[in-house]
Amino acid sequence: MKFKTIFEPFRIKSVEPITITTEEERTRFLEQAFYNPFLLNSEQVIIDMLTDSGTSAMSAHQWAGIMEGDEAYAGSRSWQKMEKAVRSLTHCEYILPTHQGRAAERILYSHLGGMGKTFISNTHFDTTRANIEFSGAEAIDIPIQESLNPMLEYPFKGNMDVNKLEHIINSKGATNIGAVILTVTNNSGGGQPVSLENAQSISAVCKRHGVKLFLDCCRVAENAWFIKNREEGQAHKSSRQIAEEMFMLCDGAVMSAKKDALVNMGGFLALKDKALAEACTSLLIITEGFTTYGGLSGRDMEAIAIGLEEVFDEDYLNYRIKSTAYLGNKIHELGVPVMRPIGGHAVYVDARALYPHIPVDEYPGQALVCELYKKGGIRCVEVGSVMFGKYDEEGKLIPAPNDLVRLAIPRRVYTQSHIEYVIEVFEEIIKGKDQVSGFKITHEPKFLRHFTARFGPVEKELEIQ
Ligand SMILES: *Cc1c(COP(=O)(O)O)cnc(C)c1O
Repeated sequence: MKFKTIFEPFRIKSVEPITITTEEERTRFLEQAFYNPFLLNSEQVIIDMLTDSGTSAMSAHQWAGIMEGDEAYAGSRSWQKMEKAVRSLTHCEYILPTHQGRAAERILYSHLGGMGKTFISNTHFDTTRANIEFSGAEAIDIPIQESLNPMLEYPFKGNMDVNKLEHIINSKGATNIGAVILTVTNNSGGGQPVSLENAQSISAVCKRHGVKLFLDCCRVAENAWFIKNREEGQAHKSSRQIAEEMFMLCDGAVMSAKKDALVNMGGFLALKDKALAEACTSLLIITEGFTTYGGLSGRDMEAIAIGLEEVFDEDYLNYRIKSTAYLGNKIHELGVPVMRPIGGHAVYVDARALYPHIPVDEYPGQALVCELYKKGGIRCVEVGSVMFGKYDEEGKLIPAPNDLVRLAIPRRVYTQSHIEYVIEVFEEIIKGKDQVSGFKITHEPKFLRHFTARFGPVEKELEIQ
């Protein structure tokens, strides 16, 4: 299209009101939530960019499918539709439905894992790592060198380092490798894509060593769009074809349907090997449910079957990736330091670079998260020293490598004018950036502290003139 306005390739049939609040009200809400947006109620939020997981708007076709949902315990029509949709996409014979991605992970990695086993990924997502480590195995991340510099422009920063992969397999011994897991797009690495060429090289290494390769395919459609638009020789293919090619390189896949299947709950495990599928099926029945529903209701499965088709619509994907980039590029132009290039599902702001005057142990990321909420009612999440920080033996903070803030974009939910509003809020953020001060943690749990930690503002010392 010759026009440059990125408009939503859909019309709105059903609306959900947003509660508009004032800055005074939000200042109070924030204090009541101990400066942790996870503790805010959703009606206190104007634009919710906490996550893209399970927050998609379903289509009229999906809602119609909900009514068609067949709730039979065994062999329901909706299951048959979902199985067919997943099979034709993944080229896997054995499909196991689960209530969300981490349930599929637990089943697969508890079976393949255990003491002495090593899993290798471009970057393990946090639930993936937790399930692997819980089994007693270790999880090693080997993203390419380029991915470590947030400002560097590089088309496939989600890629895995193939030389390191070869080296780790050789040094640990192929029989000790639980699996290699390719995460597309690389969520924890900034939603950056993996190239088809990289997937092919990884697959070749795995085949040569007899090591299993799985796709963590939560955002495989978004990743395929990047390949089609950025990788040489791929433009003539459809995004769907590219995704299928990726699946063909693997032994199976794990998916959280809460992302690119455009539903609010669901997931699956797809496998090619019969013996592995049988072992996983036993675990599925014990912990999730019978083989034809896992942890899902018939209506969920119906919506997943439809969502997996809809997500590969090229007009949708074009809008999806370009509108995310629009937000990222606009705030970048305003002078906000952002991770480059913009990923598929989120914009990552470098809060440490935005607030150089806030020491790392006063959590510049948390300061930005609070400013965005206070100034504009925008809720997002710190991905830095609050989330990944540790303490040394003296109780001193070991900060995360970066202090980023993630603005995740729910699928098909917000319009261009919502995004323009977010950009306007960032203008205010830039204007007031030197007056912002940091936070201290006043209460924290032992694990996954970012969800429930409480904070308090660091009192600014009075300047003596
Ligand atoms: C969301 C996600 C998961 C876990 O899925 P849930 O549905 O949240 O359990 C696993 N891997 C990646 C890459 C994800 O983004």
